[in-house]
Formats: sequence, C-alpha cells, structure tokens
Amino acid sequence: MIMIYDSLTRTKRVFEPINPPEVSIYVCGVTPYAESHLGHARPAILWDVIKRHLMRRGYLVRHVQNFTDIDDKLVARSRDLGTSVSSLASLHIDEYVQWMNQLGVLPPDYTPRVTENLSSIIDFIEALIAQNQAYATTLGNVYFRVDKYAEYGRLSGRTSDAGRLGVRVELADDKENPLDFALWKAALPHEEYFTSPWGRGRPGWHIECSAMSSLYLGQRFDLHGGGIDLMFPHHENELAQSKSYFGTDPAGCWVHNGMITQGNVKMSKSLGNGTNLGDLLNRYPAMALRSYLLSVQYRNPLDFSEEALADWTHGMERVWQLWERVRNVASPSRKLGTKWENRLASFEERFLACLDDDFNTARALAEVFDLVHDVYRGVNEGETSTALGWARINLQKAHDVLGLLPVESDRSMEMDPLVTRLLTWREQARRDKNFLLGDEIRVILEKSGWVVEDRSDGSNMVTRRVEVQDD
Ligand SMILES: [Zn+2]
Repeated sequence: MIMIYDSLTRTKRVFEPINPPEVSIYVCGVTPYAESHLGHARPAILWDVIKRHLMRRGYLVRHVQNFTDIDDKLVARSRDLGTSVSSLASLHIDEYVQWMNQLGVLPPDYTPRVTENLSSIIDFIEALIAQNQAYATTLGNVYFRVDKYAEYGRLSGRTSDAGRLGVRVELADDKENPLDFALWKAALPHEEYFTSPWGRGRPGWHIECSAMSSLYLGQRFDLHGGGIDLMFPHHENELAQSKSYFGTDPAGCWVHNGMITQGNVKMSKSLGNGTNLGDLLNRYPAMALRSYLLSVQYRNPLDFSEEALADWTHGMERVWQLWERVRNVASPSRKLGTKWENRLASFEERFLACLDDDFNTARALAEVFDLVHDVYRGVNEGETSTALGWARINLQKAHDVLGLLPVESDRSMEMDPLVTRLLTWREQARRDKNFLLGDEIRVILEKSGWVVEDRSDGSNMVTRRVEVQDD
C-alpha cells in the first residue's frame, strides 16, 4: 500500500492507479534558457525514485516530462545572446540530459517539446474558444476567461481576489479581466514566431502542459508532478484548462516538491543565486549530490549549504567503502539467527515501507546508514561472511530504488522495452484467465533475470534476480 500526499485534496491517501498495473506520470520539465541548477535536479531525482519504487512494487510506469522550448525568457535571452531560440534551447536541453544521466536519472519515456506539439496545443486552444471559455483579441492574443471557470483557486487555495494581490498580473490592454491568462501570445515584430489561426505568435506557458499531458497520457492520468512554486499560477491554470476542456480532473494526484533554498532564500535562475549543476558535478561525486537531494523528504524545503553537502559526501564514502568490500562476496545463507542477523535479513521490508509512506527518502536513507552499522557489528562479532553477504544484497536493493552507488556498479531497474512488453502481455493473459500463457511468459522473463511474484490482490512484483543460498 503506497500513501501519497495530494496537494489538491490536501490529504495523504492510499494510491489507487486509474488503470493498474499501469501508472501514468506527467512532470513539468525545465525551460532551457540557461544552465540548470540544483533546483532542477531535485524534482528530476525525486521522480526517478518514485518511478523506480513504483516499478519495484510491480507497476508499469509511463513517465512524461516536457521541455518548454519556447517562452518569453528564451525569446529575451536568445536576443541578448544573438542566437536563435532553438539553438539556445537545444544547448541547454543537451546539457540537462547529460547531467541527469550523470546523476543516474532514468530518462522519461517521453520528453515532448512545445515546438514539436504546436498543432495539439492550437487544437486545445480552439476547443476552449469554441466552449466560450477563451477568447481571441484583435491584437492576436488568446486569453482564458477566468471568471467563467467557477473552480479557479481550488488547487492553490487562492481565490481570484487573493490572486489579484498575490500575483504579478501581466499588463495587457486587450484582456477582459486582469486575471485572464494567455493561451496564445502575439509575437512582436522582431520576435521568432509560429503561425496560428490568430496570427503569428507562440503558446502561453500553461496550455502546453494541458495539451501534452492529454496527448501522451489521456484525459486522466495518475500523478502530476512539479515544484511547489509551480502550483500557482502554472498548475492552477493547467487544471482550469484541462477541467474546462474534458470536464474531469486531469490528475488523480498532484505531487509538489519543496524548494531548495540557500540561507532560506529560494534558489532560482531569475535570482541569480542558483548553484550551477555542472559546477557541483565537477566537484562532488554525482551519487553524493543525488543522495544529498534525497536526504530531506520531498515536500520539505531543503536548505542547501556547501558545508552540509561536503559532510554528506563523507557519510556516503562509508557506504561506498562497504560496497567495494562486498560487491563480489558470496550470498549469505537464509538461516536466521541473532538479532542483528534478522535485522539484516528484513532490511528490504523496512526500506520499502519508508518509501511506501509518501516516498520518504530521508527515512529510507537512514535505514541504509543503519544497515552499514549493523553490518560492521556483525563483522565485529565474528559473523563476517553472513554480514558481508547481506550487505551486498541489501545495498544492491537500496541502490536499485534510490541510486546510491557509483554509476559503474549500476545495475539499473530500467527494463528494456521487450521486458515491459512481455509484462503487459502477461497481464493481459492473466486477465483473460489464460494462465498457461501467463506462466510461459513468466518463465521467459525469469530466464532473462527478472523474477515475477504474483500477489493475492492481483498485482505483481517484478525484481531483478538476486541469488540467495537456501540451506
Ligand atoms: Zn507544466
């Protein structure tokens, strides 16, 4: 049972996928107008862990994360640099992808870009105009009519009035209401543009996520992610657009991660105090940085300091030293004995339970540090081979979900497309009560190193095979 905090209902509740065993995820990605900083790595690593944990729990995950490769900031910066929007965006997207790779983040299944999905975005806007929920103006802009959408403010808790106070309203002469937000923006004469039924321009920021999430995942999907700073106005507006269009809430659960602060000031490119990811990756092991970002439960803010990161890196060195010592040791016997031995054997249960509780990576990491302690205790008590054997198995299991060990020891949870396809067929066979075919597929999977365990509730658990001696 996985519990997740939903920002929309403001409750932590049992996660029930819309179409199990599939889980569909949409996460708002980066606007690549400058180099990425630590604040971009946090959600990427969080969703990587959420995805791996869901896979560990037997779900088939479809993960979409967009790139906002056209927007006001990209237009302004490319003009300042004398380059095109597309080359500026590509440069920073390539860099982001490379850094995420270093951080052990599995690539999302789809990474749609706005400029590659303009026709879906334009269709979405046209439908909102047809519903009278949006209007085009003589200046070539299209706005969403906020007054006509009764539920505005439901996600962020801001009413229209509070919104009036709390948000910098875009200045425009052609809006019916200052709170109306742009779905399409007319291009200024010197700006790069795309053609549309309303003239030359570019999409507003929010509409892309409504259009691309529904295009890739359907009107309803399971989890919607992004930083808490996106809740208003971005996600409020996205919810308003999608709910108006489809008449239903797009996401089963809205998951927001806390910000990274420095001396309690939010880190962002616009403030200029962002800690550049490339620079940190040059100075710290990637897996130290990754686990440091997981050391605080995702909903809480993380106050970054270089000193804390350096201390954390020292702590992780103990884990890596143990891994170096155990990576080739034999598997332990399943025979249980002393108290610490039982603790080692039941590590995975406790570890996964932490993640089942709203992806509490801070507690899961604490279990890993306790594990290291227990292993050394076993060694001190003369039970070296058993302790080291369990250390290998447990560190590997923790690594499969959290990503902790140096990348060269990565035996990632990522399943190749063939394995995913086989699992889908097996699910179908079981639903059709064709258990013979289901079993045949299970055997094929096992021969390829994947163990499928069926549970009484109809779900299953898929894991890489780890040899444990039975005696
Ligand atoms: Zn978005």
